[in-house]
Amino acid sequence: TIEFVRAAQLQGDEEPSGPPLSAQAQQKESIQAVRRSLPVFPFREELLAAIANHQVLIIEGETGSGKTTQIPQYLFEEGYTKKGMKIACTQPRRVAAMSVAARVAREMGVKLGNEVGYSIRFEDCTSERTVLRYMTDGMLLREFLSEPDLASYSVVMVDEAHERTLHTDILFGLIKDVARFRPELKVLVASATLDTARFSAFFDDAPVFRIPGRRFPVDIFYTKAPEADYLEACVVSVLQIHVTQPPGDILVFLTGQEEIEAACEMLQDRCRRLGSKIRELLVLPIYANLPSDMQARIFQPTPPGARKVVVATNIAETSLTIEGIIYVLDPGFCKQKSYNPRTGMESLTVTPCSKASANQRAGRAGRVAAGKCFRLYTAWAYQHELEETTVPEIQRTSLGNVVLLLKSLGIHDLMHFDFLDPPPYETLLLALEQLYALGALNHLGELTTSGRKMAELPVDPMLSKMILASEKYSCSEEILTVAAMLSVNNSIFYRPKDKVVHADNARVNFFLPGGDHLVLLNVYTQWAESGYSSQWCYENFVQFRSMRRARDVREQLEGLLERVEVGLTSCQGDYVRVRKAITSGYFYHTARMTRSGYRTVKQQQTVFIHPNSSLFEQQPRWLLYHELVLTTKEFMRQVLEIESSWLLEVAPHYYKAKELEDPHAKKMPKKVGKTREELG
Ligand code: ADP
Ligand code: MG
Repeated sequence: TIEFVRAAQLQGDEEPSGPPLSAQAQQKESIQAVRRSLPVFPFREELLAAIANHQVLIIEGETGSGKTTQIPQYLFEEGYTKKGMKIACTQPRRVAAMSVAARVAREMGVKLGNEVGYSIRFEDCTSERTVLRYMTDGMLLREFLSEPDLASYSVVMVDEAHERTLHTDILFGLIKDVARFRPELKVLVASATLDTARFSAFFDDAPVFRIPGRRFPVDIFYTKAPEADYLEACVVSVLQIHVTQPPGDILVFLTGQEEIEAACEMLQDRCRRLGSKIRELLVLPIYANLPSDMQARIFQPTPPGARKVVVATNIAETSLTIEGIIYVLDPGFCKQKSYNPRTGMESLTVTPCSKASANQRAGRAGRVAAGKCFRLYTAWAYQHELEETTVPEIQRTSLGNVVLLLKSLGIHDLMHFDFLDPPPYETLLLALEQLYALGALNHLGELTTSGRKMAELPVDPMLSKMILASEKYSCSEEILTVAAMLSVNNSIFYRPKDKVVHADNARVNFFLPGGDHLVLLNVYTQWAESGYSSQWCYENFVQFRSMRRARDVREQLEGLLERVEVGLTSCQGDYVRVRKAITSGYFYHTARMTRSGYRTVKQQQTVFIHPNSSLFEQQPRWLLYHELVLTTKEFMRQVLEIESSWLLEVAPHYYKAKELEDPHAKKMPKKVGKTREELG
């Protein structure tokens, strides 16, 4: 067992009163009654009046008050979509956009994709008729490319603004600008109760509309001592809550899919072993790549006598509200991108969450009744080790993508772009340098023809470059597959606990010399040959839904090839061409073997091949990686063996022959010679 001490209380606005309205009771009421019961409802008229009177309105309200699902409907009812005008509501997360759109369609009694739809990268569930569009912030950003003044929108609601994702932050600057010359456009900035004063100041002191929350007090418990293994501690604590605490569902915050799946498996395993000694515990995961039917399950009411435990990523912090949560279990971590502008290295890291995050999480326990939040860290750690707030993404990510987009929109002076919080100067500079090296910008910083094409593709600049380069190496068929497979990354292989050996064997059977990108290609090709069969996936321990998604992505990218003037050609088994095309995009992400292990070529950072890689045993001298993931070490995920001479071939402006010389290799002079030959 784990010992918790009660150490604080999150003050609510309401006294704990009678029994909470159970999820079932709510379900029984008509959907309209539920709508009327939401905190935003009494403010409907007042809110609509404020929107009518002001061009920009900041809306602040506790999570679950009805901002996302109700306000766009009010606007619809009020006639904001007359004459075919549309309402956009942005979400930082794909799952939220999908789930909320589905909910709103149900509330309005329409088919999802008709009047109400969603649009996320590689998945468009909208039609001509769609007037309420839930979309990721990144998708609205891309709308600017085809419609720079957002002329077909009457209202843009930037939701979950407090999340401060990179795309949301860029949207702020662009929308503020559009609003100036489109006085009839309404701009709503919706946020949980954080940061609203800053948003108001940014939008020239726009008024803030507050929706009073409905919060019950939440008792906060801390562990007495730090927990070494928070996953194990989580599982133990959930069971402890289940066995000792009165009814009410549990919400657990973990950092990502792998962790969530592991935790769910452990929980189910232990419940099975305890059998009828405990009451039924429904274990439900929720994360970005979960198929939508599984996502919908978390909203279903818990059967009488049972308890539900939802194991979620940050998505449940403010984007989704699950009824009936009384207990929150918070290990205090989240997965974050971090970026070092000095070295240009970006990596995903599991880091302690901020105090603001921890408090949002705790708040989830007090929505329907007084609740409890169990933190798997000490009160001291909360006080002394957590940052106050999360650093906005714009300050801890690479900006290549966004800079390319802004350049395509004709915004050249990035240093003076209207940022809510500016990115570090070095990061902007490095983005410009990288885009120059990729051939997207010329030496004056202007967009090149190739840069314009790269912006057309809804993927990162390096991936775009790889796709464009497939024209030169006549292998676009294969490169499209690699690009699609990389975008569903890390969820291809299935590894059930009870069949680890079989699963690993199946995976190794796909290995091809050259590296992981070719393995991905191999998996897809064999699957396609099987007739895209689910049975084939099952037999080969491959996740069918990931493959289906890869196929969707691939089809969409294929549809864009013509626009970027790449013909469809196959390398006919000459994989060197595929590897060179990949290198054309990823020459930034290279590492070489030195006496002391792998070092990145330019920055000399120590890195390691991920143990899951097909090249883990081989340890080739030169390689490129798709991404870095920092866990116990800085791991390179998806690696490809390359030859150093290719770097001079694909990026002669970036690499000098001298820095690719290998002091330990006797063969070296010969290689250099070959390179010159190849360069002609
Ligand atoms: P906010 O945006 O202010 O956080 P929402 O509009 O997302 O609030 O949520 C309002 C209500 O709608 C919540 O009580 C939530 O439980 C309910 N809700 C939202 N999505 C779903 C869904 N997919 N299924 C059932 N209920 C939902
Ligand atoms: Mg919301």
